Amino acid sequence: MTVQIRQDGKCVIEGVEYPGVGYGTWPLRDDVCFHAILDAARIGYRIIDTATLYGNHVPIGKALKKLGREQYYVTSKVWPNNHRPQDLKKDLVKALEDLQTSYLDAYLLHWPNSKTPIEDTMEAMVAAQKAGLIRHIGLSNVTPNHLKRIFELKVPITWVQNEMHPHFYEPSEVQACTSHGIGFQAWGPLGRGRLVEDSLLKKISEKHHKTPAQVALRWIFQHQGLSLPGSRNPVHMQQNFTLWDFSLSKEEMEKIDAQGLHGERERAVGIGLGFDDEFDYSYEQCWPHT
Ligand code: NAD
Repeated sequence: MTVQIRQDGKCVIEGVEYPGVGYGTWPLRDDVCFHAILDAARIGYRIIDTATLYGNHVPIGKALKKLGREQYYVTSKVWPNNHRPQDLKKDLVKALEDLQTSYLDAYLLHWPNSKTPIEDTMEAMVAAQKAGLIRHIGLSNVTPNHLKRIFELKVPITWVQNEMHPHFYEPSEVQACTSHGIGFQAWGPLGRGRLVEDSLLKKISEKHHKTPAQVALRWIFQHQGLSLPGSRNPVHMQQNFTLWDFSLSKEEMEKIDAQGLHGERERAVGIGLGFDDEFDYSYEQCWPHT
């Protein structure tokens, strides 16, 4: 198994220990992003999430150069308009150049694009892995149907990065990963900031002398997820990194689960991103055979 979320708060990736919470960098840019990465590093974050779409590879690269690239696990993602092999290669080369690194730790398909044959996209991913340009391959915004299709291709998937927080929880997505030894990363783990006002989380957090944000992130951790909270506020960054000195009871977990199960995910449909998401796709429609 490549990825393991351990009880002691460590995320072990191929035997190397990292903190069990990562740092999300959307929508940070330019100098704000550069300084935020330095703050995150000082606090102890070692897993950094970015994407070509975020437009912040350059300031992250500058920060990593100052900090020492090797200590960090850096993930980036390729947008669906660049899933054809030649386009993917170009996206990756530019990402490496901007991040001032010879390799990415993980490279994810940002959203599925069923109009591009997945066999071709994955061949390009595997070629990049064999060439040492990426260590691990991942997918983002996928359903268990997508995973079933990808397993047929026998491509080693290390990560899935999906939306998950106490206002949206889809257990089948987490289980499809954990049962196959795939690491699950939770994006938007604080519901894009909304969760700090949630009354259930407030009540639970008071009992533990924690904040609602810490309860949300701890809930994800206890579900074996690696959350990627985003913040440029060092006080919040520190809070989001302090999750290992308390634990939620079974009853508290179940109460938050129940709330998340009734929630709705964010959709990317008709909002001008150049594609519509594919969450409602059946198995047959997920990356159809060419
Ligand atoms: P989030 O749930 O992490 O919420 C971020 C918001 O919460 C910000 O406004 C921040 O100021 C606030 N916040 C953070 N910590 C707080 C704290 N302790 N107390 C109070 N407020 C706090 O949402 P996000 O940033 O959109 O998602 C996290 C990361 O996930 C992104 O930075 C990005 O790296 C990744 N992401 C990936 C995808 C994808 O499609 N794969 C989509 C969205 C985000």
